Amino acid sequence: MSTPKNLTISKFGGTSVADYEAMVRCAKIIQNDPSNKVAVVSASSGVTNHLVRLGQPQISEDEQVEIINSIKAIQLNITQHLSKEAELNETVEQLLAELTQYAKEQSLNHSLRTADAILSYGEQFSSIIFAEVLQTIGVNAKAFDIRQIMKTNSLFGKAVVDLQLLKENALSILKPELEDNIIVTQGFIGQNEAGQTTTLGRGGSDYSAALLAEALDADDLAIWTDVVGIFTTDPRITDKARAIKEISFGEAAEMATFGAKILHPATLIPAMRQNIPVFVGSSKAPEQGGTRIQKVVESCPTFRSIALRREQTLVTVKSPEMLHASGFLAKVFAILAKHELSVDLITTSEISVALTFDNPVGSTQAVITKAVVQELEKLCDVKVEDGLSLVAVIGNKMHSTSGIGNKILHAAEGVNIRMMCQGASAHNLCFLVPEDEANKVVEKLHSSLFSF
Ligand code: ADP
Ligand code: ASP
Ligand code: MG
Repeated sequence: MSTPKNLTISKFGGTSVADYEAMVRCAKIIQNDPSNKVAVVSASSGVTNHLVRLGQPQISEDEQVEIINSIKAIQLNITQHLSKEAELNETVEQLLAELTQYAKEQSLNHSLRTADAILSYGEQFSSIIFAEVLQTIGVNAKAFDIRQIMKTNSLFGKAVVDLQLLKENALSILKPELEDNIIVTQGFIGQNEAGQTTTLGRGGSDYSAALLAEALDADDLAIWTDVVGIFTTDPRITDKARAIKEISFGEAAEMATFGAKILHPATLIPAMRQNIPVFVGSSKAPEQGGTRIQKVVESCPTFRSIALRREQTLVTVKSPEMLHASGFLAKVFAILAKHELSVDLITTSEISVALTFDNPVGSTQAVITKAVVQELEKLCDVKVEDGLSLVAVIGNKMHSTSGIGNKILHAAEGVNIRMMCQGASAHNLCFLVPEDEANKVVEKLHSSLFSF
């Protein structure tokens, strides 16, 4: 007999807390399993995108008002179903007044710091409202401001969490709260030493929940979303995609890293450190089960899934001096490091090197700036290509399986493959294709690798 679970951290994504009915479904998931003591929520669907727009430079006052009204409508649409509507609306109005202040400040003097302050309101609204939805169905619940414990550095937009401090704070401040209440808290946001709000990057609520699971030594992490688990590829690309029952940490981490939007890329790092199994399921259909991600799995198929990451930039640097010379790559990488650029894939030939870079979802600035190009140009010829997508086939023992290349070439017949990488990892093989061909290639490759 298995021992009962003590503590599950449950994360509910944007569509799961999009409206009143969706929130009630999530509240019932919490209610049905006594181990669900911490709920981490995202902003209601659409709200963060509105806030991203609000935080951009050169937004007119009319646009600000329009955006704030759209956000307000989403939240009041939920509160109208609750008996504490008036009280909640007062809180919503207070938060909207703060948000309006930040929006004004941002239009006068744009900063990443204010952008993060603005972005944090989506999760603030949804956590307060979801706690009340839980109360309504008879669950003692309390909203908890995660910024009390999720301390980060000041890298606004992609802040790094102080893990040691999180653990200490989670045990001393959050854990005692779990005695009497279900705690509802915000994903995605944190706070720097100066008490300013930070964010962990788009889609970061998954990562927040995983960090909390680690800090509280949870038995389980449940990611509730809008699909019944992790699929063989994004089900929006092909209806032939199938849910995977069980997948290893390593494979799922590769999927997340290579752009499968189902999980924020860093989600599995804390779970792997602490060996906490992760469940991914649909809050719309919890009875359908989902995917279990764990250390040991029964089957390790050659092909597990195909991930697609859009908006990739390919930089090719070329210098005849590279031939038989040492130190060229070191110089290139020194420039990239100076600009805090992280390289994804690399291929080299005798006189040129091709490098890929990810443009984070929602970013407004190109990852390779003019300044980077100018510096590289002092060293070599530089070519920058945008509009590319990275397709990654994820599986096991792929470096020692023959015939994969043929399948890819067949699926991408007539398509210009700009770069291909295999060999560094047994778990993936990836290649770059033009953005507008990517879905077609994934669909064809999926049919060829997975026949159900
Ligand atoms: P949430 O708001 O719950 O965090 P996301 O939109 O971030 O949800 O992630 C869920 C979406 O991820 C799905 O609707 C699906 O389109 C997409 N997705 C991409 N790759 C996969 C995959 N391999 N399996 C399942 N979903 C995937
Ligand atoms: N609300 C944030 C976003 O949309 C974080 C998240 O949902 O994970 O990116
Ligand atoms: Mg997500």
